[in-house]
Amino acid sequence: MGYSKAKKQRIFERYNGCCVYCGVELNLDHYFEDDAYEIDHFIPKSQGGTSIGDANFVASCKKCNRNKHSMTVEQWLEKKKKKLDRLRFQIKELENSICLIEEFKNERASND
Ligand SMILES: [Zn+2]
Repeated sequence: MGYSKAKKQRIFERYNGCCVYCGVELNLDHYFEDDAYEIDHFIPKSQGGTSIGDANFVASCKKCNRNKHSMTVEQWLEKKKKKLDRLRFQIKELENSICLIEEFKNERASND
């Protein structure tokens, strides 16, 4: 979507040149990098977010903008939370496996 140069500048300055989501310093020169500056609809258009004025626009890095996509921040964080829960579960499983190996080793050592 094409935004005017002035609008891009305003949004960039309003957020001190940093991504509102991850805080990275936005890259103005390299469009293809993850930290490239993009304007994001804070409330997605598909979920009723407005394009009128500047109120619904935030400065985002390309990575966060693509990742958040058409979700609200709440939906996006919920998705991240699910990912985190899955990871925690896998870590727990790993820890259990390590415990079993340790128990097995100790048992063998005491039987020697
Ligand atoms: Zn970001």
